[in-house]
Amino acid sequence: MWQCPNCKREFKVAEQHHFCTIPPKTIEDYIAVQPDGIQPRLKELYAAIKAVLPDATEKIAYQMPTFWHGRNLIHFAAFKHHIGLYPGSEATGVFADKLTAYKTSKGTIQFPHKDPLPLELITEIAEWCGAYNAVTKGRTAAFGKEDSPA
Ligand SMILES: [Zn+2]
Repeated sequence: MWQCPNCKREFKVAEQHHFCTIPPKTIEDYIAVQPDGIQPRLKELYAAIKAVLPDATEKIAYQMPTFWHGRNLIHFAAFKHHIGLYPGSEATGVFADKLTAYKTSKGTIQFPHKDPLPLELITEIAEWCGAYNAVTKGRTAAFGKEDSPA
């Protein structure tokens, strides 16, 4: 028997893909309930972002794994045929030249499961999101209490 770490339902098949009745609370839980084949990709992507945003708070926002630091820095999500990365429209604008091989729309990038994940590029984008936040957060309204001056 395999028990889903998120909804605690039990299945005969390990990592059985199912519709969780409870939304995942952590990024690990989110990844654990994705289909087997894409979990390694999600773990790589997660580790790559985590490595360059060590001070960010990890959470689930809009049902997506999210790195937060005063505001949402970057999200990702698993889809049937791709992983979606949501670094914001400023980032997709800045990195436009490097994203020509990928499907993008305002603030989102799609990485198809059939292609290798461009981890270096993902790392660069995540790093940029952290740096951009550090420079601009004092001027935004969406300002978390955690970052307020003591
Ligand atoms: Zn579940």
